[in-house]
Amino acid sequence: MGELAIILKVSRRQWRWVAGGILLGIAVFAANALLMAVSGWFIASMALAGVAKTSFNYFIPSAAIRGLAIARTVGRYGERLVTHSAALRVLSDLRVWLFLRLEPLSPAILDRYSSGELSGRLRGDVDAMENLYLRIIAPLFTGGLSILLSTAFVAIWCRSAAVALLFSLLLTGIFLPLMAKRIADEPGRRSAELTGELRSMVADGLQGGAELILLGAEERHAGQVSRASYELVSAQEELARGAAFTLAGGLFSAGTGVLAVLLCTAVAFSVQQIDGPQLVMLLLFSAAAFEGAAGLPTALQLLPTVKESARRIAEISSTPPPILEPAVSAPLPAGFDLVMRNVSFSYEGSKPALREFNLEIPSGGRVALVGPSGVGKSTVADLLLRFREYGGSITLGGHELRDYAGDDLRMLIAAARQNSHLFNATIRENIVLSRPDAGEDDIREVLHVAALDEWVASLPQGLETRVGEGGSSVSGGEARRISLARALLKDAPILVLDEPTEGLDCATEQLVVNRLQQRIKGKSLLLITHRPACLELVDSVINMG
Ligand code: ADP
Repeated sequence: MGELAIILKVSRRQWRWVAGGILLGIAVFAANALLMAVSGWFIASMALAGVAKTSFNYFIPSAAIRGLAIARTVGRYGERLVTHSAALRVLSDLRVWLFLRLEPLSPAILDRYSSGELSGRLRGDVDAMENLYLRIIAPLFTGGLSILLSTAFVAIWCRSAAVALLFSLLLTGIFLPLMAKRIADEPGRRSAELTGELRSMVADGLQGGAELILLGAEERHAGQVSRASYELVSAQEELARGAAFTLAGGLFSAGTGVLAVLLCTAVAFSVQQIDGPQLVMLLLFSAAAFEGAAGLPTALQLLPTVKESARRIAEISSTPPPILEPAVSAPLPAGFDLVMRNVSFSYEGSKPALREFNLEIPSGGRVALVGPSGVGKSTVADLLLRFREYGGSITLGGHELRDYAGDDLRMLIAAARQNSHLFNATIRENIVLSRPDAGEDDIREVLHVAALDEWVASLPQGLETRVGEGGSSVSGGEARRISLARALLKDAPILVLDEPTEGLDCATEQLVVNRLQQRIKGKSLLLITHRPACLELVDSVINMG
């Protein structure tokens, strides 16, 4: 239950809406059951008065019937409105909470989960939490309370009928569904797991579709999807069988329950404990009482699936943060001397990516890291940006990086990382992300340095052109230069550029290098590259190979 407690805690701000929905649910149930009770009593009393030719005040009961009917209809409308509003508010709180938890975990969280799996969890599992309130919590409370209220109401006239009703309400609403839940537990868990797996597989297959075709592996991938899909269908069939069993069993036990109430009230009638109209009233009330417990089977049946989704949400949200922020952040330094001493780092479960690494960049100095792929160049950049915790010492302006708040530190460093993400927005929006208040001249200047100006001018929509998901509508070289322009716009004293000219032809590369020379005067630069032209930008080169 721990995982559900986490979800409930996140949505506790919405308790008024949740409680309102539950209260309205009970009010609607009461109005409906009382409507049936009063109607039964009224019709039977009218009939008896007709037979006995006695007068009968039908104004009060008929007004009560009208009142209850209106209350039922209006109440049902209000209940739907409030419960759905509650569910949507709970979902919205949950989405924001999860996003705020995930954001600082990035990029380390992508080491653990594929992006397909993450987006599946963000979407599917969070959406499944709608059921937690709408189909589990609200029906459990409404159902439980309606069972108690119904039993108490019938007990006023006939104790034995109340016991019979309670027994069959418990059987229909709780025991049968619990049995069904036991049957559904395993397929429910499997179904949630397989749904996640399938979603991730399909997303992966679509994103890597070109590679699969190229490698002739699309059949194999399709086979895997088809196998998972087949297993999912069989888990869902098991679930459906469980649901059918609950439904049929519920109908049967409700029918026999009403029959038992009829027998008990008939006995009470024969010993003149109750009169005829009361018998009819109790019978119709009992039949209506089952409606209050109607949501219980679904609630108990959905519980395992929703619990599994909650577990998966709790699992990612409790991923430990990649770095620990200091309790008090050191003041930002005046100078920007950067010194790395005996720095080591290993990715989770991998051999060390960096071992006893040393580097010194004085304020305004420019250093290039070169070496074969995989020696840890990008890792050095990530450590500097405080995306991951390092071993050894890295100081900036004399203070250990660990002593600075990550966000403060990143204000001093502008970076164009190797796989800088482009958002599915316009070129302008992607660039000004680093400085939202940048003026038109600033944007124009960084476009010029990144040699993007002519290309942007040639686009019909210019800077307002959308780059597509992950920059899919622009070329690799253009994407890289957009992230270079973004980093330059930030105008920070330290610049980290990871292969900024990758994918450019020699002439454009030289253009970018020349313009960068002018633009970054006075700034510290850590450049990762294997292109000779770029080495013009730096004072010293460290070969990590
Ligand atoms: P370079 O930039 O020099 O190509 P990287 O810093 O990207 O090298 O990688 C250094 C080593 O760490 C490589 O062996 C690489 O496979 C590994 N590595 C990089 N990123 C990850 C990651 N997210 N999870 C696990 N291992 C990683």
